[in-house]
Amino acid sequence: MANTKWVYDFGGGASDGDASMKNLLGGKGANLAEMASLGLPVPPGFTITTALCTAYYDLGRKYPEELDAQLETSLKTLEAKAGKEFGSATNPLLVSVRSGARASMPGMMDTVLNLGLNDTTAEGLAQLSGDRRFAYDSYRRFIQMYSNVVLNITHDVFEDILEDFKDLQGYELDTDMQAEDWQEVIVKYKAAVVTHNNGKPFPEDPKDQLWGAIGAVFGSWMNDRAIFYRKHNDIPASWGTAVNVQSMVFGNMGDTSATGVAFTRDPGTGENLFYGEYLINAQGEDVVAGIRTPAPISKARAAEMGSDDAPLEVTMPDVYKQLTDVADKLEKHYRDMQDIEFTVEEGKLYMLQTRNGKRTAQAALAMAVEMCKEGLITENEAVLRLEPAQLDQLLHPMIDQDAKAAATAEGRVFVKGLPASPGAAIGKIVFDSDEAADAAAKGEDVILIRIETSPEDIHGMHASKAIVTARGGMTSHAAVVARGMGRPCVCGAGSLRINKELGEVSVAGETLKRGDIVTVDGATGEVFKGRVAMIEPDLSGDFAHIMEWADKARTLSVRTNAETPADVEVAKNFGAEGIGLCRTEHMFFDADRIPVVRAMILASSEKGRKEALEKLLPMQRSDFEAIFRIMGDKPCNIRLLDPPLHEFMPHSDEEMADVAKGSGVSIEVLTHRASELHESNPMLGHRGCRLGVTYPEIYEMQARAIFEAAVNVAKETGVAPVPEVMIPLVATKAEVALMKARIVKMAEAVLPKSDIKIDYLVGTMIELPRAALRAADIAQEAEFFSFGTNDLTQTTLGISRDDAARFLGDYEKQGIYEKDPFVTLDIEGVGELVQMGTERGRSVKPDLKIGICGEHGGDPASIAFCHKLGMSYVSCSPYRVPVARLAAAHAALKA
Ligand code: ADP
Ligand code: MG
Ligand code: MG
Repeated sequence: MANTKWVYDFGGGASDGDASMKNLLGGKGANLAEMASLGLPVPPGFTITTALCTAYYDLGRKYPEELDAQLETSLKTLEAKAGKEFGSATNPLLVSVRSGARASMPGMMDTVLNLGLNDTTAEGLAQLSGDRRFAYDSYRRFIQMYSNVVLNITHDVFEDILEDFKDLQGYELDTDMQAEDWQEVIVKYKAAVVTHNNGKPFPEDPKDQLWGAIGAVFGSWMNDRAIFYRKHNDIPASWGTAVNVQSMVFGNMGDTSATGVAFTRDPGTGENLFYGEYLINAQGEDVVAGIRTPAPISKARAAEMGSDDAPLEVTMPDVYKQLTDVADKLEKHYRDMQDIEFTVEEGKLYMLQTRNGKRTAQAALAMAVEMCKEGLITENEAVLRLEPAQLDQLLHPMIDQDAKAAATAEGRVFVKGLPASPGAAIGKIVFDSDEAADAAAKGEDVILIRIETSPEDIHGMHASKAIVTARGGMTSHAAVVARGMGRPCVCGAGSLRINKELGEVSVAGETLKRGDIVTVDGATGEVFKGRVAMIEPDLSGDFAHIMEWADKARTLSVRTNAETPADVEVAKNFGAEGIGLCRTEHMFFDADRIPVVRAMILASSEKGRKEALEKLLPMQRSDFEAIFRIMGDKPCNIRLLDPPLHEFMPHSDEEMADVAKGSGVSIEVLTHRASELHESNPMLGHRGCRLGVTYPEIYEMQARAIFEAAVNVAKETGVAPVPEVMIPLVATKAEVALMKARIVKMAEAVLPKSDIKIDYLVGTMIELPRAALRAADIAQEAEFFSFGTNDLTQTTLGISRDDAARFLGDYEKQGIYEKDPFVTLDIEGVGELVQMGTERGRSVKPDLKIGICGEHGGDPASIAFCHKLGMSYVSCSPYRVPVARLAAAHAALKA
């Protein structure tokens, strides 16, 4: 460690780092260095690396020895660049201390501005700037921010003092405060610090302040909010955060100063329109905090929003022009939409941050396609710009325009705010994040309504279907976080009056209560009373382009798990290239079938079973016909009956009586039979091919139904279906051999000799560890494998999925399993079996068709693994099909 460079300088002519060093310098630090090197106006500073954060925790929250000297050197360099001195009474250097992880974590880590101020340097700043009010305004901001971030004293302590002071003076606004007023308030602030900080005074020494702030940034890496955000965004704790120390520029020096944020394109829709917000005479956090609602930057945007506030384009046209030039330069340089932060100090523009902007799925899609058409990026890059998980949002409903017009005519618009994050949702009103989380845990759809949100609300926002806030602009915390999460969001609905205690929210005398249903349209900013109908999304246009490019890039085929004609149809429209799993038992639950199924199960003789099966045969056949008709010449994998029979058992006396009546057997006999069938561990009991072993007639009936259906549809449509008959829960080659012989015999009996040729396969699920281990044997009989990773996970981990809820959460929390292994494949363990099964199977049959049909077939990380193994296909639920297509393309392009 002795030779490690922990501190990297940037700006003022020379930078040690660049944009490629995000892992070490964090996103913010790397991009500050890069912007400085591009010749953009960046206040100079230095970055303490993410490696130091890791070292700090490794050393038990202590810094490596060499840091001190390196920091001193960089501070000296910074003083020279800035032409100011840290702690000087006449020419003080002030800095901001900013966190910055590899991946941007908005609002997670806390920034301290104006650091270096104390009674002496504040007076120095006053003299130097010739603006006492500005100097003491900066000072009081610093005390509050530092106390909050570093000393954990809540903002309201300071806000209360300020409000009381203003009341006493008869002031309305903060801007009524004069320098002397601020000085008085500062004395009160400091007294409050002593009270709330165990009697310790506010640190006067700028060096102490600096170390305190640095420690707070590193400390915040492990706070609950950061941990929560990382968990939900798959960011490992080991990455660490960097700390940026940067000389201050001031947006609060009067009416020629300002601060703002901008996006080079619209992050909500993707439209190529410069877009942003700013506040005159303000400092950084003012914009994000949503306390004052900022004005739009451009005339076009102001007009679109119907805003009366003068845009930057009007108030500071030169700065605006410069800013748009910078935006163009940055976008061309990074070849992506940029999210930028800037400050104007007395007419001079400074860049404080740039990063690839977060965007809604809709915007990501529109931008990727447009940038590709502009020639800025290639088709493959466009494909990579859209996160598979994000795609989900585009596949979900939006508000139906006719229903909306009707609702509007009925006067059901409750409030209109800013369209902060598109998409629509219906749910019950809640006013509190904990309440939202609780309700969501019970399976309720809730809409979170807040005055504004803060990082403490992340879990509540996550739990809600949509978020509505009274305050804050398009770049407020709520807006940014909601877009990142893909939650519809309406911000700045200023006419909302929220009374959390009473559980009420009202607009112009109209009141809704906690639990009332509302519909939120994040695309327009409207909130409706009651439900408004939604429609399915549009899958043409940009969506079709990206999917076409993704299909070109991927090698994995994508199928679907579906059995009802409606689901099969949806999946086909979403691009499914076959059925990877048709669960025949799902077809048995229909009201008109279940009594027959029950009669079959409860029959105590083969004869009784056969009678029932005779009745089921035409039903199954017509099911398969419907599927074959939709799927045409695409392969259809049909799994023979799998679940424990008890799942079909009558539960109530009434149901029992029905079965008795239907099958002409007495209730007593039936009850006795039911108790015979009881199993203590049905998941490992009489199910899967074990049913086929003991009741051959069941599988024979199903095989017959499949082949007869194939022949019928081939005759009817002229297109021969491609059935794949799948045997579940196999452990041995002998099981496959036995089942297969019967299936083939049935095929030979049913399929015509000449005119129509049906190509069918008989294969097996691999869902028991033994099957994966003995895959080479099994492949001698099986014509395909499909990894049933739900059961394979259960049986490998020895965890029953139905009972896992009680403890799996704790396992995840304590990092025993990084993720829920039923959602993302446990690649180390279960994955090793999948790999082994694939390799061993193909060692016997090199072309063996291999797929996956567990939940994991729709999970992007698991899909990447399947791609790596060279599987033939993945199969997932219908709505996941596009996600899987895109994930398969990502896997191929990143390989
Ligand atoms: P976040 O990661 O939450 O966006 P930042 O570190 O970017 O936090 O800081 C928030 C805001 O503080 C910035 O957008 C900027 O307006 C202001 N800020 C940070 N550093 C400086 C600085 N050196 N001079 C002026 N303003 C600053
Ligand atoms: Mg912050
Ligand atoms: Mg920032």
